[in-house]
Amino acid sequence: MPDWLALYYKEQVELTHGEGRHVWDSEGRRYLDFFGGILTTMTAHALPEVTKAVSEQAGRILHTSTLYLDRPMIELAERVAQLSGIPDARVFFTTSGTEANDTALLLATAYRRSNQILAMRNSYHGRSFSAVGITGNRSWSPTSLSPLQTLYVHGGIRTKGPFADLSDDAFIAACVADLRDLLGQTRGPVAALIAEPIQGVGGFTSPPDGLYAAFREVLQAEGILWISDEVQTGWGRTGEHFWGWQAHGENGPPDILTFAKGIGNGASIGGVVARADVMNCLDANSISTFGGSPVTMAAGLANLTYLLEHDLQGNARRVGGLLLERLRAVAAPLDLVTEVRGRGLMIGVELATAAAATAVLEASRERGLLIGKGGLAGDALRIAPPLTLTVAEAEEGAAILEQALHAAVNYG
Ligand code: PMP
Repeated sequence: MPDWLALYYKEQVELTHGEGRHVWDSEGRRYLDFFGGILTTMTAHALPEVTKAVSEQAGRILHTSTLYLDRPMIELAERVAQLSGIPDARVFFTTSGTEANDTALLLATAYRRSNQILAMRNSYHGRSFSAVGITGNRSWSPTSLSPLQTLYVHGGIRTKGPFADLSDDAFIAACVADLRDLLGQTRGPVAALIAEPIQGVGGFTSPPDGLYAAFREVLQAEGILWISDEVQTGWGRTGEHFWGWQAHGENGPPDILTFAKGIGNGASIGGVVARADVMNCLDANSISTFGGSPVTMAAGLANLTYLLEHDLQGNARRVGGLLLERLRAVAAPLDLVTEVRGRGLMIGVELATAAAATAVLEASRERGLLIGKGGLAGDALRIAPPLTLTVAEAEEGAAILEQALHAAVNYG
């Protein structure tokens, strides 16, 4: 395996099985899972409905390719199109978030006949050659070579950067002025703005609500497309909204929406939703051999049905709200914590240093809690449990995190 494929933890962990919000390692230790394999185990581990759908489909046929009619794919596409809020939507399935964003970039650049892309500072959109070219977070962008001309826009982080001290309204106004200024200095058309409504790898940072609606007005005047990368924020995780873009909803929906991670609850599904004229603008063939595979689509359908029938968005809002409050209380007396932010079950805890974040990750694992980290400086804890999280589990996780934070303080 390559050196750059990093593992978490000094004493590395092999997870062998899971159930609900818990996982077990090969030593038989049980953990409360507050990271879900990077926000991907969206509903629960070993959810019987998904397991059944996958095994039944696997018993029928594993693969056909999209050269033949694929019923689970069509059913899932219809549901995603309807949920997306994009009128006359078309859906294309891929196998990852990277491939979804790559497709969005292909569509936008072909539609607009331009390779100029606006992206946010501190962004992450995937690992392909095109995706790293729009990744503002330098620790995830191993090359500056790119097929794209990328212009980075202010606004992804509310509490850092030159506009951090402004009020929300003034912050938005300054970012919009920056965008206008940037566009005024650009030659030829710009294809699209791509943005994560809440930056994932960036440490669960976000602008004030309404920024993307304000951007949208400027973009629309020039025909520039808006791509919302919902790989982490989709499907109700943020509690208040089904999609992250809805926090900026006045001028929504976006022209293109990308998704991945949680929809398959671990089955490898990614995808792009776009207006028909944008999706259909390619004048050559294109195919993803594994995209839309019947087994992953069956997983997605069962998972989405469960999510909607059990109102997991509502659960994310209620239990996530409680967890956020609890973590704010835990953090209040600690100088080590510089910010607790987020919404729904997507909560970032920023610490004074990256070393402190590593120490808290270790101390949490020792006490039976798995969490993630991120941020431009690697100094933010990322907390994103499966959306079925119970109040008791939220309390338990918060109590462990409190101990882990205190242990990190004492550790120095
Ligand atoms: N976009 C966002 C916002 C992501 O967080 C990620 C993965 N961390 C990706 C795209 C890429 O997805 P994948 O790893 O499935 O290619």
